[in-house]
Amino acid sequence: MSFTSHSPFSATVFLLFKSGLLEQQRELARAIDRAQKEIRAVADSGPGDVVDDSCGNASKEAVFAGYSQNRTQLRKVELALERISTGEFGICAACDGAIGLKRLHAIPWVNNCIECQEQSEQSRVH
Ligand SMILES: [Zn+2]
Repeated sequence: MSFTSHSPFSATVFLLFKSGLLEQQRELARAIDRAQKEIRAVADSGPGDVVDDSCGNASKEAVFAGYSQNRTQLRKVELALERISTGEFGICAACDGAIGLKRLHAIPWVNNCIECQEQSEQSRVH
């Protein structure tokens, strides 16, 4: 395995993040698969012929909402995995500095350090 020389973390840290992200990726893929089947089942049953009639619309909306949410989440997880494989993981895309471990644990797919994040948020407000 090769990591860029200015990588702030050890290979062990990378591996921990990687295995966590891979697990998340599997779970999301499963959830998306399940939602796709549910959506198809709802579409197949046609209007007015939903199995669970009483809350058919609400649950359909919930399935769609969860589905698109999971898709977005999966994309983020994949981005983080990509950054791990390129050795960019944990390095701020804006200033090339290290992103804090605490921040990465909270949001593994983040690509800005807290300072740059705050700066961009400020420049957006003003
Ligand atoms: Zn930065």
